[in-house]
Amino acid sequence: MKKGHDNLYSMRQLNHRGNMIAKKRRLEMALLLLATILIILIITISQHIKKAQDAKAYQEQLVQYQAEQARLEQERIAEEERKRKEKIPQVTEQAVQDFESIYHSDTKRAFLTFDDGPSPITPNILDTLKEKNVKATFFMLGSSVKNFPETVKRVYDEGHYIANHGYSHVYSKIYTSPQTVLDEYNQTNEAIKEAIGEPEFNSHLFRFPGGLAGGKYAEIKKQAKDLLIQNQIYAIDWNCLSGDAETSTPTSDYLMSRLQATSQGKNSLIILMHDAQAKKVTADTLPQIIDYLAGQGYEFKTFYDIF
Ligand SMILES: [Zn+2]
Repeated sequence: MKKGHDNLYSMRQLNHRGNMIAKKRRLEMALLLLATILIILIITISQHIKKAQDAKAYQEQLVQYQAEQARLEQERIAEEERKRKEKIPQVTEQAVQDFESIYHSDTKRAFLTFDDGPSPITPNILDTLKEKNVKATFFMLGSSVKNFPETVKRVYDEGHYIANHGYSHVYSKIYTSPQTVLDEYNQTNEAIKEAIGEPEFNSHLFRFPGGLAGGKYAEIKKQAKDLLIQNQIYAIDWNCLSGDAETSTPTSDYLMSRLQATSQGKNSLIILMHDAQAKKVTADTLPQIIDYLAGQGYEFKTFYDIF
């Protein structure tokens, strides 16, 4: 009986232990499940936090990028504005001083100037200037500006100086009075402004058709020069020439010999040439003219170096 009791006891004991183990297992399972849930929860939360942080960082980067883009755009606009203004000639005290001593220079310098254009030969001249990396000054006729506005724009865009040679080039018309000279200047300036799309443009630089002094209209010219100065417009002739207007059919050799003869012993050259349609020889000889002057040690200038 005792043995039976003992057996029962150990059975109970065993049962109890078995229950304990099962309980413990359930507890372990529950803990494991809890731990798993916790881990998943932590991972999910941290992923959410990371996503939120990433989104915030992205947002910040986007704002920074947009601010940087806006700043660059403003800089670009300011730079364009600076370049635009730089191409509009300005009359300063220094400019007037420099202009008055235009024929004097310590170093050798050459201003290539072309009158009576633009015309169909002007693009050839521009091609040569571009190839030789030389800038020049073009004294344009208002009537020709009206006929070749694209060429005028090209001259301007390629950094050459656009100056004014009146509108008609008809002496009896332009030299009717000092006022008609000013009127032709203004009429031509309007045509230039329209062609280049620059409403503030004023070259402040005029070349009298037929020259500044002498001739039948000497007195009108003299008075016109004063009237122009009152309007901050400065008149310039030349002290050197290619002779391309001296005969009806000059040759390249003739142009070169006239250039050599008239540039002799001068440091500061204002060289008269023409880009009217009939002056094909000037366009053809230009590479030689530039090479000759460069070989003589001249540095090329435009009136942007003055105004
Ligand atoms: Zn002329």
